[in-house]
Amino acid sequence: CGIVGYIGPRNGKDVVVGGLAKLEYRGYDSAGVAALADGNIRIVKAVGRLANLEEKLAEMPLSGQVAIGHTRWATHGKPSDENAHPHQDCSGRFAIVHNGIVENYLSLRDELIALGHEFRSETDTEVVAHLIEEMYNGDLFETMIAVGKRIRGAYALVVMGKDHPDELVAIRRASPMIIGLGEKENFVASDIPAILEYTRDIYVMEDGEMAVLRRDGVECFNMDGEPVKKEVYHVTWDA
Ligand code: GLU
Repeated sequence: CGIVGYIGPRNGKDVVVGGLAKLEYRGYDSAGVAALADGNIRIVKAVGRLANLEEKLAEMPLSGQVAIGHTRWATHGKPSDENAHPHQDCSGRFAIVHNGIVENYLSLRDELIALGHEFRSETDTEVVAHLIEEMYNGDLFETMIAVGKRIRGAYALVVMGKDHPDELVAIRRASPMIIGLGEKENFVASDIPAILEYTRDIYVMEDGEMAVLRRDGVECFNMDGEPVKKEVYHVTWDA
């Protein structure tokens, strides 16, 4: 039910887990984080409180300057470690976090299983990871434009790719999402309190918008990949 993503010079896991704690008011049943370091995506997830995730992270430290994290409010598949996000494709080249519901996941799942994909969770979300793997053309942003045309429902999605250490791609339809603009670092989250510690300059993502986050800037687009000009919203209140 909460998403946080980070790209910049800090340890991304710390930013993400700290941000998820600020989103706890949204409610959740499990949590997880993925970090990209040395060309590998590593994931830690835990059912229950964020404290459970932090306990696991103490034993299995994650480093990496690109990270995504999630607190889940299960809609499809019971609360469990396997069903917690981030989710991955078969090859482990991608990791995604998702808020919302992929309404056509059953037909997509059948289609992907017929193509040889093996599923590890009971979530609607996992189809998106496999769809990315199936549609991937070397360009993560273009791939997400194509994926966006295949999935129906409500989603705020953030994607990382092991061969894409310099970007995160975010896409939103009918689930909230904001971008935080920093100096040589950028943030994406479900809500402003998650990132207020780091920046007060925000893009509020509208329905049907996408963003590519890099260390030195953020570009926003519509779902056809056409650039969208965003106004910076400066937050003057405290969470
Ligand atoms: N539908 C997804 C799931 O059940 C995401 C739920 C959420 O928004 O946390 O895993």
